[in-house]
Amino acid sequence: MTATTRTTKRKKKKKKGKGWLILLLLAAGAFFALYQLEFKYWDRSMPTGMHPLVAEKRDKLVEEASKKGIQIMITDDFRSAAEQDELYAKGRTKPGNIVTHAEGGKSYHNYGMALDFALENQAGEAVWDIKRDGNKNGEADWMEVVAIGKNLGFEWGGEIFGDFKDYPHFQMDFGLSIYELQLGRRPK
Ligand SMILES: [Zn+2]
Repeated sequence: MTATTRTTKRKKKKKKGKGWLILLLLAAGAFFALYQLEFKYWDRSMPTGMHPLVAEKRDKLVEEASKKGIQIMITDDFRSAAEQDELYAKGRTKPGNIVTHAEGGKSYHNYGMALDFALENQAGEAVWDIKRDGNKNGEADWMEVVAIGKNLGFEWGGEIFGDFKDYPHFQMDFGLSIYELQLGRRPK
């Protein structure tokens, strides 16, 4: 083999390597451009109140429960990420019992898509008795409220978190996971 052929061969090899690099860069560029474009339509600012549809359904829940002779109160709905962090600290770094498993930004409450309810007794106090039958129709009031909520399109906390039963909790996720919400996706 002469020195000239060896150089040509080496050149050819080098060219092939560059081709792959350019292709890789183009692919990365296209991916980045699409990612940016998609992100443009995402709203990463945190909501400051209830989602209008969820607020409407919340009011409907109270109204329909009342029609069945069950008074309920909404003990919590929208919670800012800072308020969520404070709640998360309870039973961990601050005194009290653990009340939530979600840190700030990781609860549907933080996006105005969740609420908690309790039964209300005649003295106007919150009651968390899931067996109470205040309207005396042979059914637990709590489960009647759950049925109303599910009928309105809510998911119930007693059924969505696996082992952790959050009986007072209702949420509407609009098909969005917490991860997607954290990235900035919002319900239409
Ligand atoms: Zn809740």
